[in-house]
Parts: sequence; C-alpha cells; structure tokens
Amino acid sequence: MTYSTALLIDGQFVTGEGAPESILNPASGEVIAQVAEASPEQVHQAVAAAQRAFDSWRDTTPAERSRLLLKVADAIESEALAFARIESDNCGKPFASVLNDELPAIADCFRFYAGAIRTMHGPLGGEYLNGFTSMMRRDPVGVVASIAPWNYPLMMAAWKLAPALAAGNTVVLKPSEQTPLTALKLAHILAEVFPRGVVNIICGRGDSVGQPLVEHPAVRMVSVTGDISTGQKILQTASRTVKRTHLELGGKAPVIVFDDADLDKVVAGIRTFGFYNAGQDCTAACRIYAHSKIYDRFVAELASAVSSIKVGSQDVDGVEMGPLITDRQRSRVASFVERALAAGHMEAATGGKIVDGAGFFYQPTVIAGARHSDEIVRREVFGPVVSVTRFHEASQAIEWANDSEYGLASSVWTKDLGKAAQVARKLQYGATWINTHFMLATEMPHGGFKMSGYGKDLSMYALEDYTVPRHIMFSHD
Ligand code: NAD
Repeated sequence: MTYSTALLIDGQFVTGEGAPESILNPASGEVIAQVAEASPEQVHQAVAAAQRAFDSWRDTTPAERSRLLLKVADAIESEALAFARIESDNCGKPFASVLNDELPAIADCFRFYAGAIRTMHGPLGGEYLNGFTSMMRRDPVGVVASIAPWNYPLMMAAWKLAPALAAGNTVVLKPSEQTPLTALKLAHILAEVFPRGVVNIICGRGDSVGQPLVEHPAVRMVSVTGDISTGQKILQTASRTVKRTHLELGGKAPVIVFDDADLDKVVAGIRTFGFYNAGQDCTAACRIYAHSKIYDRFVAELASAVSSIKVGSQDVDGVEMGPLITDRQRSRVASFVERALAAGHMEAATGGKIVDGAGFFYQPTVIAGARHSDEIVRREVFGPVVSVTRFHEASQAIEWANDSEYGLASSVWTKDLGKAAQVARKLQYGATWINTHFMLATEMPHGGFKMSGYGKDLSMYALEDYTVPRHIMFSHD
C-alpha cells in the first residue's frame, strides 16, 4: 500500500522540509511510511494561505459552504474502504470497526454541519432601546488551528474541520505526528472541493510544529483534542495573543452499577465500551463502582466476559481489540497495572500482562479490589484496563464519581429510571449515559467539565464555538 505523505499548503501538495517521522503499524511494529514534518517557514506559509483565503471564504453563503461539505461527505463515503484500510494500518484498529463504526460517523459529521449552518440562528432582533433596532450576526472567528490526537485521527479531524469550515473559518489542521495518514489522504479530497488555502494540513510534533502554529499571531482560534498537559501548554501560548481556545482533554469515566441493574447488560456493555479502541478513548467505561450486593458476582462475570475479547491484528477474522498505539503507550499502561498489583490489595481478575510477540498488544484487564484513592482509579490509563471498586450507598458512589479532576463522561446502570435520573442530575460530567455508555449522536454536544476542557464538539454548540456573536444596531433617525 502506498500512502499520501505530502502536506497541503495553499492548495499545493508539498513535501515537509522538517525532520522525517517514521509512521508505524502498531500491530507489527513495522515502519509503513515516512512523513516529513513542516518547517517553521511552512507553518507560516500554511497560516498565511489560510489568512488570504479567509477574505473571500467568509463571504460565501451558508448554501455554498453546505454544498461543498456534502461533496466531502460523499467522497469520504465512496472511498470508505481506502480510508478504513489506512486508519486501521496506522492505528492497529480492527479494519471492520473502522469501516462500519467510524467511517459512517465521519461522513455524517460533514453532512450534519452542511445542514446545520443553514439553520443556525441567534436571539431575535428587536427594539431594545427606543429609536434603535438591533440585530445579531454570527461571524466566523478567522484562521483556526485544529490540533488532533492519535486515537481517532480521521474522526477528530472531521469533528474539527466540519463545523469550523461550515461557519466560514479557514483552517490549518495538524494531525498527530503518529497518525497523519488518513488526514493526508483527506487532503486530496479537500484540495479538490475547497478553494486554495481554505484548508491546509501540516504534520509534525507538538513542540516543533504545534507550538509555532499556536504562537502565530494570524491564528485567531485553537481547537485541540489531547492530553491535559498539552491543553495547559496551548492555553499559555494562546494567552499571549488572546486567542479563542477550544479544549477537549482527558477523561476517566465513572460507571456506577447499582444492585438492581441488569448484570448481563452491564457486563456486555463494559466488555464493549471499556475496551473499544483498546481503551484508548477519553470516554472509555473504565472506573467502575459496583454495589456491594452484586460486587463479587459482577467481578466474576465481567472477568470471564473480558477474557473472551478476541485480541489481534487488523484483519484477523472476528478480531475485537487491536494493539496500543506505541510501545511507549503500552509500557505506560503496563506500569499503571504493575503499580496497582504491587499495592497488595488489588488483583487482576483477568489480564494484567503484555502480549508477547510482534506489535504493541496488551491483555484486556480487569483490576478488582480497587479503592477510590488508588492511582489506577484516579488517573487516565488510556489502555484496555478497567478498575472495579465496591460501594455501599448511592451517595458514596456519586461523591466518588465526582471526586475527579475530569468531567467528560459517566454512566449509571439500574432498572430504576427515577433513581438513574436523580443520579445523572448530580454527576458533573458532560455526558451521562443510562444503561449504556459511549454512544454519541452528531446532533448532541460532546465535551466536559473541569480539566476535561471546555467548548463542545458535535452539535449546534460547536458552530457557536466557531463563530463570534455580534450586535449590529440601526438608528431610526
Ligand atoms: P497529546 O496531547 O500528546 O497530543 C495531541 C495533539 O497535540 C497532537 O497533535 C500533538 O502533536 C499536539 N501537541 C502536543 N504538544 C503541543 C504543543 N505544545 N502545542 C501545540 N500542539 C501540541 O495527546 P494524544 O496522546 O495524541 O491523545 C491522547 C489524549 O487525548 C488523551 O489524554 C485523551 O484523553 C485525549 N482525548 C480527548 C478527547 C476528548 O474528546 N475530550 C478525545 C480523544 C482524546
């Protein structure tokens, strides 16, 4: 397979002039491509191109932008097999799950914003002062720097590009240095569909390419999905030029399982939603609080279900879970588990070890006997590891769930929907699922409280984030 490795700057495909980065297939550990990062001059060229393109792009009508976004969706759909191949090669994800779960959601994101921008409205205008009529406009912010992580490379690119472009901004997208390949393929569709400079894609590491992109004075907004520490650095840099920021950072989702829950459903749910994408998901169902009455049975059933997850390379028949993204990420996960087991009061009910052989595989793991104060419960592991902690009272589970620096996603499992609604109301999380977990709808917002960040992806709220509300007032004289 040959992969596109050229950057897209001002409508031209160019080779990066900075250091080369080896792109790996995490299932084999082999290098599958070399992508050279953008030089400082190329970062500047990409921003300058976006700035020039903004002058005319901002004057296009929503209908014109909508038509182009629909073309992108159609092209993604017609090349879904190729996109799924590249994403699964570069991330180690099971091919079928990229093709059947991710690609339809990615095309749908472009379609949603193609429609949404045509219906966006603000408060009605009117005479709020005698002799004056007010109206409101929502105008694009300007040049947006979109910085994406490695766990869902194409989906995160879509979540950032679609609302920003629909709203009339121009964009410089920087995918993760580890997973640029689907964005670089998408570049060919974008170059075909949009006027030059409206979208630019540059690759490279956070310090050498991300940082100067965020520093650039012509960039007016930075949208990033990544680690808390990355968000903090970007905030500091962005503060110097008072840029608008949109931060989607980490998560450590609490999962509260009451004694009246349908245990088969809970076990099946956590088997899927705790281990999807090998747990490398900011909403993964990883921090389980199980009621003491069902705790022992639940741990036994969960361990048995999780031990049956089929782990393997992208194209193995029926594979459910792939490798971690890098050897470094796997070592990080392994050391979390080692420290948990060394504490003495926890045990691996299943898993807990590196899988020997090629690639960066780790066993799907359930850590039982965890206390709320344990590191494995409090810190984001970002791997196929869930912890189970026993609780006695609902109030205790709610307090523990909220006692976290994160606030992205949570779930409550009970047959009593009144109780579920009461608990959901008290949880300080951007999403609370009841008797499910993980599911997103393009129409609904995704984003967190606390150090999980602010600003919303998906939904009409993202369009609001990528626009500036303005007041225009007419004198009657
Ligand atoms: P990361 O923070 O290492 O990198 C994210 C992106 O930021 C990359 O493109 C990286 O090159 C860039 N970057 C790093 N330092 C930078 C700097 N100083 N200036 C500008 N750009 C910089 O994150 P990752 O390891 O790629 O992804 C995993 C993290 O992402 C996890 O913490 C996870 O929770 C989070 N995440 C959050 C969400 C969400 O919706 N909240 C979704 C997916 C992933």
